[in-house]
Amino acid sequence: MEYLIRNDCPHCSAPIEISEAIYLTKCKFCKTNIIVARSNPPVYTLGRFTFDKHLLIPYWRLKGLGFDIFKTQTSGYLFDINVIAIDEQLFHALVAIEERFYHKSLGIRAQTQPLSFLKPLKNAQLLTPIPFNTITIKKYPKHKKPLHTVFIGESKHLIYLILGIQDSYLIETLTNKKIGQYIELSEKYFTTPNQKIAKPLYSLCPKCGDLLHGYSNSLFFICYNCTTGWYINNGLLTEKNFIILETKNENVLYMPFWLIEEFKPSAIFHFLQDIFHSLTFVKKNKQEKLKLLIPAFITPPNNFIKTIQSVTLANPTQRKVKEDISEDITQYLFPVKVPEEESKDAITLLLLEFSRRGKAIEIPKKIEIFKSSLIFIPFEKKRYRYFLSGTMISLVSKFIDIHLKSKIF
Ligand SMILES: [Zn+2]
Ligand SMILES: [Zn+2]
Repeated sequence: MEYLIRNDCPHCSAPIEISEAIYLTKCKFCKTNIIVARSNPPVYTLGRFTFDKHLLIPYWRLKGLGFDIFKTQTSGYLFDINVIAIDEQLFHALVAIEERFYHKSLGIRAQTQPLSFLKPLKNAQLLTPIPFNTITIKKYPKHKKPLHTVFIGESKHLIYLILGIQDSYLIETLTNKKIGQYIELSEKYFTTPNQKIAKPLYSLCPKCGDLLHGYSNSLFFICYNCTTGWYINNGLLTEKNFIILETKNENVLYMPFWLIEEFKPSAIFHFLQDIFHSLTFVKKNKQEKLKLLIPAFITPPNNFIKTIQSVTLANPTQRKVKEDISEDITQYLFPVKVPEEESKDAITLLLLEFSRRGKAIEIPKKIEIFKSSLIFIPFEKKRYRYFLSGTMISLVSKFIDIHLKSKIF
C-alpha cells in the first residue's frame, strides 16, 4: 500500500496529490511537469493544525529489505511497517497515564488520509524520534539474536501524527475526538527538526533548461540535450555521472547499479582482496581495483544478496560503454528506486557476506562513500528471468516488471 502525499504546484499553486513512490508528475491544472523532491529522510505530517497548541508524535514508516546477520547465515525478509518512534520509557509513561490511546502503529489512518510535508511550525511540540535502526522488526529469543541487522529501504519516512491540545486535553485532529489528558512533558523529549523543506521543482535540466526524462517513480532523470543525469538527493536535483553499457542483444532492460569506487573504511580493501583469492571460481588479477556494484532496485532478499555479490565479482564495468544515448532509451532504463544513501547498508551486507566465507565476521563501523556513479547494465529477458549476458546472474522478472508500469515522461 502506498501513502498519498499532498503538495502544491510551483506554477499555479493548485493542490497535487501523489503517491509516496512518485517523484515526477504533471499538474492536472496547468499541465506543468513537476519533480517532488524529498528531504532525507522525508518528513511528513498526518492530521491538521487547527488548534492553538499541538503535540506531534513521530512514527517511522519503513519499507524495503531487512537482513538479520547471524554467524553462519543471513536471514532476509521484506517489510512494510509503520511504528511509533518514541523511546520505550516515554512510551510507557504516556501509555500509563493516557491509558490505551497511544497506538504503536498508525494503522490504516495513514492510508486513508493524505500526508503533508512538514512545514515550519508554530505552536507545535515535536517528540524526538528514535533512530530507525533501533526499531525491532523481527523478534528473536535472547540467545538467538542476530549479530547485526541491515535495512535497505525503498522508503524510510518519518511521519508525525498531529494532536491538538485544548483545555489540557489531547484531541485527535483527524476525528476531533478527545483522546486523553495532556501532561506537560519535559523539554528534553522535544526536538526542532533541522531539515530541508521539500519543495516541488520544475522538471527542467538545471544546466540547460531542457525537459528531463525518466520514469515517474524513479529518483534519476536524464537530460538528452546536454547528456547529463540528475538525481534527487535531500530535496534537490544534483548532477550524477552515469554510464550505460553497450549490448547487441534485444529484449533487454538496463538495470541501475550504484557503482562505488571509493569508500571507507579502506582497511576492508585488503580484507576483501583476501576473500577474492579464497574464492576458487574467481580468477582475479591481484592489482585490479575493487568496485562495488549495488543494485539501485529492490528484488527479493535472497536474490538481492546473490546479485550484489555476483555482479560485484563479475565486474561488468570493463565492458564497452554505449556512446549514442538518445531519448528512446528511456523506456529500457529501469527506474532508480533505492537511494544512494542505502547503498552504505548494502556495502555492510556485502562485506559481512564476503567475510563469512573468510574468517571471523567483522561488522564494519560507519561506511563512507567518496566516489560513486550510476551504471546501467543490460539484462536480457528470457522467459521468467532477466540474465546478465555471459553469466548465470539473473533477476526474477515478476518482481522487476511490476516496477515498470510507472509512466515515462
Ligand atoms: Zn499547476
Ligand atoms: Zn540539459
